[in-house]
Amino acid sequence: MEFGRVTRIRSKYLNDSVVVYQSVKQPGYVYKFSRKKDNEYRCCRCRELGKQRVITVVDDVVVGRKDPESDHHPDCVPLREESVTALSIDRDMRNEVNACFNDLTFKLCMLDKFCNHRIRQTDYRRTDD
Ligand SMILES: [Zn+2]
Repeated sequence: MEFGRVTRIRSKYLNDSVVVYQSVKQPGYVYKFSRKKDNEYRCCRCRELGKQRVITVVDDVVVGRKDPESDHHPDCVPLREESVTALSIDRDMRNEVNACFNDLTFKLCMLDKFCNHRIRQTDYRRTDD
């Protein structure tokens, strides 16, 4: 049985191991699941509350016999969709900044190597005179 699609967002470790499931019972609210292994994702809030609630996601679609919204910890409530989306955008931006920074570090490193090379050449010439 199939239960709607999930959206992938970046986790705090900046990979794509977190999926978001839109609540059907409470429109505008979502459940966040993080990857456990392979196609298995566990509810993030349930995990904090000490309960294991696992769903199976195949090609970004929730599959299985159980409704992804049922059988959560009694205190596990879905999150406001906006708060999750804002977090995802923030993480996307941070990822871009990281990429830029890595590029800049690479350029500085090359510049440093180049300068050292020039200095060494100058030293060589000086001793040659
Ligand atoms: Zn839960």
